[in-house]
Amino acid sequence: MSSAVVVLKSGRDRSVRQRHPRLFASAIKEVSGKPRDGDVVDVTDNKGEWLARGVINRQAQIAVRLLTWDRDETVDEAFWRRRVHAAIARRKCDPALKHTDAIRWVFGESDGLPGLIVDGYAGWLVAEISTLAAWRALPILTDALNEALAPRGIVQRTDEERLAHEFGGAVPRTVREALNDEAPSDPIEIHERGLRFWVNLCRGQKTGFYLDQRDNRARLAAYCAEATVLNGFSYTGAFGLHALAGGAVRVVNVDSSREALALAERNLLLNDDLQAGRRYECVEADVFDYLRDLRARDERFDVVILDPPKFAHHPGQIERAARAYKDLNRVGMGIVNRGGILATFSCSGVVDAALFQKIIFSAALEAGREARIIERLTQASDHPVLLSFPEAEYLKGLICRIE
Ligand code: SAH
Repeated sequence: MSSAVVVLKSGRDRSVRQRHPRLFASAIKEVSGKPRDGDVVDVTDNKGEWLARGVINRQAQIAVRLLTWDRDETVDEAFWRRRVHAAIARRKCDPALKHTDAIRWVFGESDGLPGLIVDGYAGWLVAEISTLAAWRALPILTDALNEALAPRGIVQRTDEERLAHEFGGAVPRTVREALNDEAPSDPIEIHERGLRFWVNLCRGQKTGFYLDQRDNRARLAAYCAEATVLNGFSYTGAFGLHALAGGAVRVVNVDSSREALALAERNLLLNDDLQAGRRYECVEADVFDYLRDLRARDERFDVVILDPPKFAHHPGQIERAARAYKDLNRVGMGIVNRGGILATFSCSGVVDAALFQKIIFSAALEAGREARIIERLTQASDHPVLLSFPEAEYLKGLICRIE
C-alpha cells in the first residue's frame, strides 16, 4: 500500500470497480496520509476494501488518475517503462500501420498512460502532456521512449488548456520552459500509403498531423475517380492529396489557416506525379461562408468532405454543437451533385455516433436531399478504445450517397 489512502463515498465505487481510469473529486469521502499533488495513492471503498492505485491531484476535477487495479503492482520507474513498452508493442504488431511512418505510439488512457500522447513522425516523436501525473513521470517516460524507439528527437508540446486545469489555473513556468524543448524548425517529411506530406512538429496543429483520419483518407480516395472534390477544413490537404491519388480531376482545399494551406500547397509539390492535368486549389476562407458562396453561385461537387474542428468540448456544449453540425451539413449537402458523396465527420467525443447520425438526418431533411449511409468511419487503430474508457472514442464519420 502507498502511505496515502483515498476513501470513496458509499455507493461511489462502481466506476473504479469497472476500471474507469478517472476518479472525480465528488466521489471522495476523505483522504488520509497527507499526500501532495502528484503522489501515488491507494483507493478504497467506503468500508476500506482496496480497489485501485493512482496519482492524486486535488487541484483538478479529476482528483485521481487511476493507474492499476493490481494490488501488487507498484507505480515506480519500472511501471512507467512497462506501460510505454506495451503501448509501442501494440502498434508494432498492427498490420494497419504498415503503410506509414507516422504513428500514434501512445494514446493516453487507452494505453494506461493518462495525460500522455506520443506521435511518431518519420523518426521524430512529439509528446503531448496534459496531466500532472504524466508531467511528474516525464523524465522516465522520455527515457523509455528513447530506449524503445531510438528517435531522432522528442519534441514536447502542451495542451495548455488541459494542463492549466491540472495546475490549478496557471501552468508553472518550470513546466512551460521544460516543455519548450528544441525541435526541428523546418517541417519534416512523412509517408502515408505512398503519399508524402510535410509535417510541422513545432507549429502545426495538435502534434502536427491528423493521424486519426489515416484510414478514412484511403477509404474516401476510392470514391474520387474522375470526381470534383471539395475538401472542407482541409488543414494541410491530406484528404485532398489522397483524393488526387484516387483519380480526382479537381480538388479544392478550404481552410481558415493560411499556414496550414501553405503546407497544403507544398504537399502537392512533394507528390509531383499527382499534378498532371488536375486542378488543385487552396482557398483561405471560413468553410461556412464559402459553402454559402458556392450555393449562391450554384457550383457543385461530386465529393464533399467536411472535417471540422471539435465543436463541443463538454456536455454543456452539445446543443450548440449539434446546431453547428446541422447547419454545416445542410449547406454541404446542398452543393453535392445528385448521386455524389458527402463524407462528414465529428471529432467531438460528447456527440456520440447515434446523435451525429440524427443530426445528419435533420440536415438532409432541411436540405431536401435523400441521403444514404454507405460507410461508417471511426478513428484509426493507433487510437484504440479501451473498453473501460469508452470516452476514448471520439471520431465518427459517415460516407453518404446524396440524391
Ligand atoms: N481533414 C484534416 C484535418 C482537419 S482539422 C486532415 O485530414 O488533415 C480542422 C481544420 O479546420 C483545421 O485545419 C482548422 O484550421 C480548420 N478550421 C477551423 N475552423 C474553420 C472554419 N470556420 N473555416 C475553415 N477552416 C476552419
